[in-house]
Amino acid sequence: MKIARLRIPEGTVYASIREDGYHIILGDIFSEWGELSEPYEGEYTLLPPVSPSKVVCLGANYKKHAEELSLDVLPEPTIFLKPPSSVIASGEDILYPASATKVDYESELAVIIGKRARNVKESEALSYVLGYTAANDVTERNMQKKDGQWTRAKSFDTFCPLGSYMETDLDPSDVEIVGKRNGAVVQCGRTRDLINSVEKSIVFISGIMTLEAGDVILTGTPAGIGELSVGDLFEVEIDGALMLTNRVVREEV
Ligand code: MG
Repeated sequence: MKIARLRIPEGTVYASIREDGYHIILGDIFSEWGELSEPYEGEYTLLPPVSPSKVVCLGANYKKHAEELSLDVLPEPTIFLKPPSSVIASGEDILYPASATKVDYESELAVIIGKRARNVKESEALSYVLGYTAANDVTERNMQKKDGQWTRAKSFDTFCPLGSYMETDLDPSDVEIVGKRNGAVVQCGRTRDLINSVEKSIVFISGIMTLEAGDVILTGTPAGIGELSVGDLFEVEIDGALMLTNRVVREEV
């Protein structure tokens, strides 16, 4: 099923997406919940599908992408963090930082953790997942190369757009990821080509840090990365469903 997160006048709510609209969810989305039978008809603002305590990302997790960036594929996964302050919703603007000289898009499948996870076994890894969404791991490429580590390049405000909803019924083993810049397909990959699968990524990360319900894992980007310019519209589709749309706007300082 498809679940979105909305701000309504009464507060922040989750809602299932049905043919007749959003149905407000009552209870705890990570535990026991139910939904109202009537669709919601009031005002709302679409929010990112979760408010994570951290976003953990896989780097160089597709061989062809590692080659295009001349990154070595190491025996163990390369991981890095994006701060919660970088997360924005679909429809919000990606701010092109005043200090930036090369801002790239990276279309990715995002995994939303459903319950606290620590030292997870591979056979049980998917039971810790609540759902999946699209992500754009926006990156300042010149800073990434110059700094020697990736924190600045990956962490600007608005550099982690997440999809307009999460899909709870998805087999992550062979999902298509498509990135479109101004309507033209620029990235097209499949998760069957991941070097570290979703399961292996959860095992590796949860062996280092506790993953909390609502935390997000970005699984890495397929080949075809490229530059964003002010005014561009960037979209990410997962298995043919448009989940994420953002415009690039110059940061006002
Ligand atoms: Mg990435």
